[in-house]
Amino acid sequence: MTQQPVAVVHLTAPAARVITTELRTADHTTETGGILLGHHTRDTVTVHHAGTPGPAAVRTPTYFLRDLAHAQALADAAFAADSSVWVGEWHTHPTGRPVPSARDTATYRDLLDDPELGFHSVIAVVFAPRQGRWTGAAWTCHGRRVAPVELTISPVDGPR
Ligand SMILES: [Zn+2]
Repeated sequence: MTQQPVAVVHLTAPAARVITTELRTADHTTETGGILLGHHTRDTVTVHHAGTPGPAAVRTPTYFLRDLAHAQALADAAFAADSSVWVGEWHTHPTGRPVPSARDTATYRDLLDDPELGFHSVIAVVFAPRQGRWTGAAWTCHGRRVAPVELTISPVDGPR
């Protein structure tokens, strides 16, 4: 299978709804986040499902690591629903910028280095507050490089 380098990350409305709800309701003294599941087609990763942190997630003011069992259950359900696969993760930087930290990048490289996971690229969407609003930025980690990519988000219906 040939996949082009990722140029665009698109969050569908169902995925965006999970993230906006978590951003609205979470305690932002620590980071929050979850996994992203979807499809990588040509140069675009379409995210159909976004995870919540899960009860065993590691959440500190400067670091987030998913709850593996929670993530695996979501991954199984997403694959059954529409063949979505694990494409990356999203998380917050409540007091920083929406840029992966050195520790984030090390985590993504560990995922890329695990042949059983079969990642072509790891997608990271990082949210940080800017002028009172959560602002997201998408990144792709491929080989040894982390690069910014375009982020598009479907409108979420209902109360914000
Ligand atoms: Zn981070």
